[in-house]
Amino acid sequence: MPPSFYESVAHYVDRASTLLEVEEDVRTLLAEPYRQIDVQVPIHADDGSVLSFRGYRVQHNGARGPFKGGLRFHQDTDLDEVQALASLMTWKSALLDLPFGGAKGGMTLNPATLSPRELEAATRSFTHAISGVIGPNTDILAPDVNTDARVMGWVMDAYSSRAGWSPAVATGKPLDLGGVPGRVEATGRGVVAVTRAVLTSQGRAFPGQRVVVQGFGNVGRHVAQFAAEQGAVVIGVSDVSGGRHVPDGIDVDALLAETKPGVLLKEAGEGDFVTNAELLALECDVLVPAALENAIDAENVASVRAPFIVEAANHPVSPDADAILAERGVIVVPDILANAGGVTGSYFEWTSNLTAFRWSEDRFNEELLLFLNRAFRQVWDCHVQRGVDLRTAAYMVGIARVAEATRLRGLA
Ligand code: NAD
Repeated sequence: MPPSFYESVAHYVDRASTLLEVEEDVRTLLAEPYRQIDVQVPIHADDGSVLSFRGYRVQHNGARGPFKGGLRFHQDTDLDEVQALASLMTWKSALLDLPFGGAKGGMTLNPATLSPRELEAATRSFTHAISGVIGPNTDILAPDVNTDARVMGWVMDAYSSRAGWSPAVATGKPLDLGGVPGRVEATGRGVVAVTRAVLTSQGRAFPGQRVVVQGFGNVGRHVAQFAAEQGAVVIGVSDVSGGRHVPDGIDVDALLAETKPGVLLKEAGEGDFVTNAELLALECDVLVPAALENAIDAENVASVRAPFIVEAANHPVSPDADAILAERGVIVVPDILANAGGVTGSYFEWTSNLTAFRWSEDRFNEELLLFLNRAFRQVWDCHVQRGVDLRTAAYMVGIARVAEATRLRGLA
């Protein structure tokens, strides 16, 4: 049996903790989620029948601050997935030196099968079910796969109906409900910034690089947009239906305009249709998996030809594929660094909500790059000084901070 998602993340945590010589007592606390909730989420369907979903909130570690993490709606979501994503949030928040712990939420449902009213009812039902353990200073939600600003608005309203006006319980909200300009684009903007930093470290300029992006949702669309704006040639993009390949470069602006919600790439865009398997195998300079976990695994890793892989999704490369890529000299930029623009932008929004002061978009984007470039330098220094790959280095920086907070608080 291959390791579960949580076991895969735990393997990286173990490897970095051993190199850091973290003492056993602290490791015991870092290994397990602090609290996890598995709730029934009932709603009345449009036809009057009752539908029931499973909902999860895992609060992995809160040594450095309130729990923080996204909310995912997906038919395959289960407790193991949410545990793993919550653990990633702990190390990511710490790596970026944000005053947050790590959490994640999920509901096992396919939003495409629900009406907008049913989706809203499920979101409100879930929020009420977990409202005792979330809050602006306790646990803060954010968008993830199949959730967006609209969903965060419902979360905020459902929570506020009990606790009073509480915009800081969720980030990634609509601008009129305390959202901040820049947050929607922040993850993709950060992915491109970190990609540039890594390429620079290898003496490569970003303009002209051939980029392939798997996943054309919030993250993937913005990666494609910013990569093209900054001079890269986006030669392939895909979504769940497959993708498009244009060797001379996709007209990204035109594709973004054409693919409004509900329009899939199998029926839109120029160039040749490719399957996701074909897309991952395209010859390119930078491959950006921005869809789901384990997109690149032991079975398809041999077909991957990119010398740089930038993990915009969480855990898109399985550990066995990661080891094979390392042997081949492929540089893999780990998720907890590459996609950390999202939680960093959420931190700015949360700060803005708590202080009731609205940031300008320019300030948001400027600070975002400062945070990401600082984290990149710290990871790079650790990579060079300790002779470890970028993933191990990123975990080492994050784990060292969480371990120290654990000791200082007297928890271990
Ligand atoms: P999204 O729901 O907006 O988009 C997901 C995209 O992936 C869609 O284009 C969908 O069609 C595609 N997809 C789904 N299943 C696929 C499959 N089997 N093969 C190929 N494509 C598939 O989600 P998102 O917010 O863009 O998140 C994408 C990834 O980035 C996830 O791993 C998420 O955890 C991670 N992430 C998101 C954020 C954020 O701010 N939204 C922040 C950090 C990390």
